Amino acid sequence: MNETIAVIGGGPAGLMAAEVLSGAGRTVTVYERMPSLGRKFLMAGRGGLNLTHSEDFRAFVGRYGPAAEHLRRRLEAFTPADLTAWAEGLGQPTFVGSSGRVFPRTLKASPLLRAWLARLDRQGVTFRTRMDWRGWNAAGELVFAGGETARPDVTILALGGASWAKLGSDGAWAQTLAEEGVALAPFEPANGGFTVDWSPMFRERFAGQPLKAIALSHGRRTLRGEAVVAAYGIEGGAVYALSADLRAAIAQAGSATVEIDLRPGLTREQLAARLDRPRGGQSTATFLRKAAKLSPLEIGLLREAHGVALPADLAAAIKRVPIRLTGTQGLARAISTAGGVRFDAVDENLMLKARPGVYVAGEMLDWEAPTGGYLLQACFATGAAAARAILARQPGGE
Ligand SMILES: Cc1cc2nc3c(=O)[nH]c(=O)nc-3n(C[C@H](O)[C@H](O)[C@H](O)COP(=O)(O)OP(=O)(O)OC[C@H]3O[C@@H](n4cnc5c(N)ncnc54)[C@H](O)[C@@H]3O)c2cc1C
Repeated sequence: MNETIAVIGGGPAGLMAAEVLSGAGRTVTVYERMPSLGRKFLMAGRGGLNLTHSEDFRAFVGRYGPAAEHLRRRLEAFTPADLTAWAEGLGQPTFVGSSGRVFPRTLKASPLLRAWLARLDRQGVTFRTRMDWRGWNAAGELVFAGGETARPDVTILALGGASWAKLGSDGAWAQTLAEEGVALAPFEPANGGFTVDWSPMFRERFAGQPLKAIALSHGRRTLRGEAVVAAYGIEGGAVYALSADLRAAIAQAGSATVEIDLRPGLTREQLAARLDRPRGGQSTATFLRKAAKLSPLEIGLLREAHGVALPADLAAAIKRVPIRLTGTQGLARAISTAGGVRFDAVDENLMLKARPGVYVAGEMLDWEAPTGGYLLQACFATGAAAARAILARQPGGE
């Protein structure tokens, strides 16, 4: 039996579902509201396209926090190694960066997307762009803006999160699904920056500059990585990795303090030994630059946090720079979205309990993870999982 399958949303999750289904001979139409497919995927390519991560699988799954248990099976069925092999199969060799992150050698999404769409085309997938899905009518048909309807046998929703709305995913589907009785967790920005009340001078001089090889602590968690000073506050990998905890702390207390260790590779004693030398006539800034190799940004940050007249124990001050975060940057520029369709609203096959025959995949599900390739990996894995579940329920399927 050849049922017709609609995939709504032409991002990584939807396209992977379309690949698995069309590869098994199913008739698939991808509906996408934008004039072209994979716009957020292409945007991810601007940062080098971190496809996945090479760390130990147990640690990998742990990155999904409370959602790890829901995603484990899907990730086992479509592993980081599978994703790497898939990219290579599309003619895009990959490499593992020093942090363990996996990238295509081109560091771009466009050649991969081009090869992928060509494969889907060869597998007979129909693409319908500028098709903005609005929900279902009383007859159970899919309804698109402008009034066109479709009556597939099965539907996969892969509509993305709610950040970077101009790329197509604006989260408008949440209202539609809520009206259908689907349980949703509220959207929140994930992997986004936090506001800091920088002094005007610091902001003007240092916005846009990176703090490299730092350690960032909040509560009992400490992470090494990079952060970037932004005009509004602070962003970057190490900040994103703590973002779920920081968001919760700010929601509860109105602010949260992170501590930056500017020299995590040195103990306080080692640093103190380097600073234990005569200053001569050097200004504090020159002394710090020479004795501890601090950059102008790092010296500026010390003064932002500890006051212009720095404390006598400079080593301790460098090892612990407290920065008060006063708010969370909005969804608009967050890299991903927390919240969405709750896992108790879908069955073990990712099918909506409130709408049998409708499956959900990708970022629209309620999980979050730090940057590092975990986002795309879970989108691909859940897209593949929904598709395989559809194949499995048919006689002659997988
Ligand atoms: C700047 C940036 C950099 C990133 N870098 C990385 C990275 O390096 N590594 C990584 O793992 N992740 C990265 N991500 C995250 C990653 O791109 C997303 O998690 C991923 O694209 C989500 O895939 P998806 O298929 O679930 O949703 P999306 O990619 O958002 O695709 C959903 C599609 O559905 C369409 N759609 C939405 N509503 C409708 C509707 N009503 N009707 C029809 N179509 C609709 C949208 O237009 C969109 O094309 C980055 C994100 C951003 C913004």
